[in-house]
Amino acid sequence: MDFYGHVIDGEEVASLDGARFDTIDPFTRQPWALVALGGKGDVDRAVAAARSAFDEGPWPRMGFVERGRILHRLADLIEQHADELALADTRDMGKPIAQSKDNDVPRAARNFRFFADHARLSTGEVMPMDTGHHTYTRFEPAGVVAAIAPWNFPLMLESWKIAPALAWGNTVVLKPAEDTPVSATITARLALEAGMPPGVLNVVHGYGPRSAGQALTEHPDVDRITFTGESGTGRIIAAAASAHLVPVSLELGGKGANVIFADADLDNAVEWSIRAIFTNAGQVCLAGSRLYVQRAVYDDFLSRFVDAADAMVTGDPRDPHTQIGPLASEEHYRKVRGYVETIESEGGKLRTGGLGDGWLVRPTVITDMPSDARHCREEIFGPLAVITPFDTEGEAVALVNDSSYGLNAMLFTENLHRAHRVSAALKAGTVWVNCFFVRDLRAPFGGVGDSGIGREGGNFSREFFTEPKAVVMQI
Ligand code: NAD
Repeated sequence: MDFYGHVIDGEEVASLDGARFDTIDPFTRQPWALVALGGKGDVDRAVAAARSAFDEGPWPRMGFVERGRILHRLADLIEQHADELALADTRDMGKPIAQSKDNDVPRAARNFRFFADHARLSTGEVMPMDTGHHTYTRFEPAGVVAAIAPWNFPLMLESWKIAPALAWGNTVVLKPAEDTPVSATITARLALEAGMPPGVLNVVHGYGPRSAGQALTEHPDVDRITFTGESGTGRIIAAAASAHLVPVSLELGGKGANVIFADADLDNAVEWSIRAIFTNAGQVCLAGSRLYVQRAVYDDFLSRFVDAADAMVTGDPRDPHTQIGPLASEEHYRKVRGYVETIESEGGKLRTGGLGDGWLVRPTVITDMPSDARHCREEIFGPLAVITPFDTEGEAVALVNDSSYGLNAMLFTENLHRAHRVSAALKAGTVWVNCFFVRDLRAPFGGVGDSGIGREGGNFSREFFTEPKAVVMQI
């Protein structure tokens, strides 16, 4: 099996104590690669390398154009290595190859290009004051950024964090999820090939608690922590960050809701709702796992939705025709299986789907579930959709907002007034109207309540990854 090391100070290295772990392919359920297992000593090395690259190296000083050139070169290399990177994520977590290759890899390249250009073209403010003074703003790099990533979109979400951090002149220590380590090592190798100086992008592998993740978030020499993962982990990381008063950005869990009004274009609503819950086998923070359908079209929508779910191709994620692969790990499969096995005891009806072979769960549609059941309230992170009828607009808004999460919502209507009115009323960081997952990288991205703290994207990433400074001049 191939070995994937940490990347620290420009070198790919083993752990100080030689520890390693297997990464498991969830379709074959066999190990497919060996990975360095980092601990506190490895994190200390990586943070020291990032600190020295920040304090003494060329990266924060080379300017936006030169840094941007390197980030664009990295984007080119990511595109050239699309097959290798896509296969790494697919083998690590079972994502269908068509999704890794056609969505995640191009989007990772786009993240690097976008943030390189955004930083270069960004402008500050000048405030002429009544006193005759002028105040202007500067956005200075924050320092060493710790980035902790989840396993559901490994390459894509890592690039979403490290691209803006790097573009603004910071240095980075990335701790990928233990289930999906390989694409991070490949990306760090490519960054060196693109001309990124040693110590600017470091990768340390390992677990969370009592491992590399904890050591990194508790490290006293880190200046920013950007985390994507579960809400419970977010609480632990926020507590760790508070010990050193380190600003933290938390992109956490969700329980996305779709509202389908009777006046919606039903073909469009079915198509997007299917994608919203079944893409990546429902292992998406934004997954539309609660569907609220106005009663006049409920039966029609349900039968079309069930047919579309049944038509999905499940199986080997390396087959380009597969739309749903296995869940990412045995632990995660057991968690989701627990929800499948309790559909009826919680009061719901299974309309289609259920358990498949190995760690696969088929596209599953549930109705008649009481609104206080676990299936309606907890983030399942699997291909389970609960469909519930509603009568009035006010009732639909109340149902969507009755959640501890507030990451996103989708609504389907042909009524322009209703689209704006309901968008404003929903508790969510993003509302999609008649679509899903369409992203402008300048827009704020993040959630309300248990879905997180802060926003990333465009200027929101700039504000997090820099120290904004006011300079006041008497002229
Ligand atoms: P997780 O919280 O279990 O792990 C995420 C990362 O945190 C991993 O790298 C893990 O090793 C690390 N970690 C775990 N415990 C830690 C600790 N005590 N200290 C430091 N690091 C620690 O999440 P996951 O299961 O990998 O990812 C799925 C979750 O991520 C879901 O809840 C999903 O909704 C969320 N998510 C959110 C977004 C978003 O943008 N809001 C995007 C994708 C995923």
